Amino acid sequence: AKSAGKGRYHFYHPNLSESLITRLSREHAVRHAVENDEFVVYFQPRYGVQSGRMSSMEALVRWQHPERGLLYPGEFIDVAEDTGLIVRLGELVIEKVCAQLAAWKRMGLHVSPVSVNVSPHQLKVGNVSSYLAACLRRHDVEARLVEVELTESAVIDQSRGVIRELQELRELGVKLMVDDFGTGHSSLAQLHRLDVDVLKVDKAFTDALTSGTEGQVLFQAIVSMASALDMCVVAEGVETPEQLSMLRKLNCDEVQGFLFSPAVPGDAVAALMARPAL
Ligand code: C2E
Ligand code: CA
Ligand code: CA
Ligand code: CA
Repeated sequence: AKSAGKGRYHFYHPNLSESLITRLSREHAVRHAVENDEFVVYFQPRYGVQSGRMSSMEALVRWQHPERGLLYPGEFIDVAEDTGLIVRLGELVIEKVCAQLAAWKRMGLHVSPVSVNVSPHQLKVGNVSSYLAACLRRHDVEARLVEVELTESAVIDQSRGVIRELQELRELGVKLMVDDFGTGHSSLAQLHRLDVDVLKVDKAFTDALTSGTEGQVLFQAIVSMASALDMCVVAEGVETPEQLSMLRKLNCDEVQGFLFSPAVPGDAVAALMARPAL
């Protein structure tokens, strides 16, 4: 409740739960941050297991909060999703990624493709491909330098808008990746029909690699089915040399995780590129 001198007033309604009030203030804060341009994009590299070289990167959004410092998506993505603010936030991320790609090119760096996380809500709204196409044009960046990461449930959504959006993204020439693979209910056959290029296998499967043969058998099955269907496999959340050597044995294509690097600001990427990786 707030007091304003003599004419005191209360804006708490007795039926408004505390959680609703919390939600509203979190929504307000995220909206303000979007308008105030407080979001920044960090980049986490992925490496080819065979080549040992950086193959691509993932764009991960952070909130540079004026008082609280750097905040991770766990603190704001759910609010953004629930309120539809994710659409505007997603556009900001796409814009910043394209601007960064153009900056790296100007610096003469050998630029790797960057994947962008696209939430189910954004895919439903259906402006991702047109927004991305406009940004690519404006910054003079090739479509092959941008990839999109989608959740299983979003990709197998059979609604007409989503099907059209996926079609438009493919026509634009961006790769489609399925994020957190193995945690949803899609089948590899479905994903193959939808022209998915890359499976990002969830960290849970990476963790299971070194806790018994069952985890290895599962991962092996994913790799062999994916390669039979011409899809690439990325292992997420690789943290130990044991996991890496197991993934090498299983012929996994690419790896990403804290063993190699966390997500770093755009201006720290040049140093990562110069460093021999695996
Ligand atoms: P995600 O897409 O599965 O991203 C991977 C998350 O795992 C990232 O967390 C990354 O920092 C973290 N990670 C990477 N390697 C390791 C590792 O070796 N060990 C562990 N424990 N974690 C690792 P982050 O950046 O906090 O992002 C969390 C989630 O927020 C992402 O999960 C993604 O779903 C969402 N997100 C991030 N950026 C965006 C965005 O721009 N748009 C949308 N819609 N969602 C985003
Ligand atoms: Ca992701
Ligand atoms: Ca569209
Ligand atoms: Ca993931």
